[in-house]
Amino acid sequence: MAPSSTALKRPAPTAVASAIEALAARFGNNLITSQAVRDQHAHTTTWLPPQPPDAVVMAQTTEDIQDVVRICAERRVPVIAFGTGTSLEGQVNAPLGGVCIDLREMNRIIAVHPDDLDCVIEPGVTRKALNEHLRDQGLFFPIGPGADASIGGMASTRASGTNAVRYGTMKDNILALKVVRADGEIISTGTRAKKTSAGYEK
Ligand SMILES: Cc1cc2nc3c(=O)[nH]c(=O)nc-3n(C[C@H](O)[C@H](O)[C@H](O)COP(=O)(O)OP(=O)(O)OC[C@H]3O[C@@H](n4cnc5c(N)ncnc54)[C@H](O)[C@@H]3O)c2cc1C
Repeated sequence: MAPSSTALKRPAPTAVASAIEALAARFGNNLITSQAVRDQHAHTTTWLPPQPPDAVVMAQTTEDIQDVVRICAERRVPVIAFGTGTSLEGQVNAPLGGVCIDLREMNRIIAVHPDDLDCVIEPGVTRKALNEHLRDQGLFFPIGPGADASIGGMASTRASGTNAVRYGTMKDNILALKVVRADGEIISTGTRAKKTSAGYEK
């Protein structure tokens, strides 16, 4: 059974300090601990106050994410992903402190397959950037929350928008994901095929 939220405790200051030291050695200037930047990574429009993380890492690659997660998991320090921060209910808050993984610089569009109506992209690509890229090919990405949210953030919140009645929500528009698990292991879910008979659906 998962522990209740009241059972969760802030990690010991020594654990946080040790994680930040290891992250500094690995990430250099891509690790940021200034109060201003930490404050920018926590906000909410609810009764919750902003709850900033202890540090922010600007991830560039999947391996970066994996390393942050491993360093933090070893020390039981929380990690919080950050897409564009447009979620409204404290989803990017760090109630127990920890390390925010900012994914905005992982914003490459890796491949577009117009005939198959699919594409391969990194999590920090925003919906407007994707639509700008697709426009010349007569294609568009249909999920449209009012904000210019990231694909990773929209996937995480199963975002919708005014087109959902016709095109569904994020659940209906994701074929496959590469996922860094909480222990740092990387798994892949699904393929570009909408249906496969090679074993169980993943
Ligand atoms: C004006 C306005 C209108 C909106 N309208 C809608 C609407 O119509 N429908 C709707 O669904 N939402 C709407 N939203 C809410 C918001 O835009 C969505 O929740 C959006 O999906 C958040 O995306 P983001 O990139 O900003 O994610 P963030 O706010 O950065 O993160 C949201 C959550 O996802 C997690 N996360 C982010 N990236 C990743 C990743 N790569 N991997 C794993 N977890 C990740 C974060 O840790 C956090 O818990 C609206 C917001 C605004 C400001």
